[in-house]
Amino acid sequence: VADPDRACHHHNFAASVAVNRIAEDGQAPTGYVADIRVACADCDEPFRFSDAPAGLSFAHPAVSVDETELHAPIRPASSDPDFGLGLPGFAVRYRDGGDLG
Ligand SMILES: [Zn+2]
Repeated sequence: VADPDRACHHHNFAASVAVNRIAEDGQAPTGYVADIRVACADCDEPFRFSDAPAGLSFAHPAVSVDETELHAPIRPASSDPDFGLGLPGFAVRYRDGGDLG
C-alpha cells in the first residue's frame, strides 16, 4: 500500500493491452492495433509514452492526447510489411498562439 506522505518509487506496474481488429462485418481484417496503458501498481499513477505523435495512425505508433495510451499498429508475422498502411488515421498537432492568423 502506498504511503501518501512519501514519494512512490514506482517499483511495480500494471499494464493493459487491448488488441483491436479493424474489419468490416464478415470481411478479412485490414489492420490491427494494440492499445497499451501502463500505471504504477502501488500508487496508480499513469505513465506517459514519450516522443510519439498524438493521434491515431496505422502506419506508425501514436499516443492519446494525454500520452497515457500508446496506439501501436501491429500485423501478423506472416503478412507483408505494408499491411494496413492504406487505412486512414488522424494527427493532433500543438500550435502556439503565434501561428494563428
Ligand atoms: Zn508509484
